[in-house]
Amino acid sequence: MITELKSIPDIWKRMPSEMHARRFLENLIWSTGRHCPHCGSVASSPLRGKTCRPGLYQCRDCRLQFTVTTLTPMHSTKLDLRVWISAMFLVLTSSKGISSVVMARLLGVNQKTAWKMGHAIREMMYYRNGELLPLEDIVEVDEAYVGGAPKSLSGAYNKRGKGTAKPMIFVAASRDGQARARVVSDYKRTTLEPVLLEWVDPATISLMTDGSKSYIGLGKTMADHQSVIHSRKEYANPETGAHVNTADAVISQVQRALVGVYHNLGGQHLQLDEIVWRWNHREPVREVVKQWTTRAGVAREKSTTIWRPIPVVDQMRVLLQGAVGKQVRRSKEYGLCRPLC
Ligand SMILES: [Zn+2]
Repeated sequence: MITELKSIPDIWKRMPSEMHARRFLENLIWSTGRHCPHCGSVASSPLRGKTCRPGLYQCRDCRLQFTVTTLTPMHSTKLDLRVWISAMFLVLTSSKGISSVVMARLLGVNQKTAWKMGHAIREMMYYRNGELLPLEDIVEVDEAYVGGAPKSLSGAYNKRGKGTAKPMIFVAASRDGQARARVVSDYKRTTLEPVLLEWVDPATISLMTDGSKSYIGLGKTMADHQSVIHSRKEYANPETGAHVNTADAVISQVQRALVGVYHNLGGQHLQLDEIVWRWNHREPVREVVKQWTTRAGVAREKSTTIWRPIPVVDQMRVLLQGAVGKQVRRSKEYGLCRPLC
């Protein structure tokens, strides 16, 4: 079984035929055993007739036929499945996201096709983000205005800080490495509270915020609340351990990924979900930064913790385990929609 994919040529080398790619996807999507996407039954048998499509199964309960891509965003795709795996590889490994134009060039497909694949992959990220567990322990929250093309290019003048027309995001980050983010309409307590309650269990967390007024009332409903007053040039409180540096780091990731894409964020969540996905799929790794030998001949080393993305195949597994039921179709307005709309 393939546990690591290093590059796009590596994908094509390890999967010399489309059947290999199909087996790879089956291992990821059905890691707990094959199940029917129509009714969920685990009783099914392969169909191997000459006229059958490869990888076709029939459910013994509902009698419907299915393959590994049925009812997923790859449903009835005409593309080679290796192209889909390569597209997932590109989205999951590009630290600032990848445009459909670049993806089309790298994969040798039409730009519209690349756009559709990119969106289908981000839709899956969106749903998986929605299924995450509540944030725990120390949770930092912060907010920021993000995006905005450079003035010289857009001709638009965006005010800084409060009162700007830029989209506002609200971020919560646990110090154990998990984060959530959402576009919000304003920073009033009535807006932020329901969002935060979706992300945390208020009885168990210690909330860390800056001195903004909206957080005073909000903090009272949490088990504990500490704040740092930025206007007093206080950025960390050594006594209480209060700081919002983790939340700020998430915000700076968002800022960096969104340079110039100001218009798209307001109404939609997908880009934000992609950035948060990347943040949430990292693991702490101890890495040696310096090695030396003392005069007495003792070998010493200095190491530090860095956060590295988890292997791309593991990310694909998380992504694809929620893929069934996330079928997307092109809408009449050249957008994408789920079968319901
Ligand atoms: Zn069935």
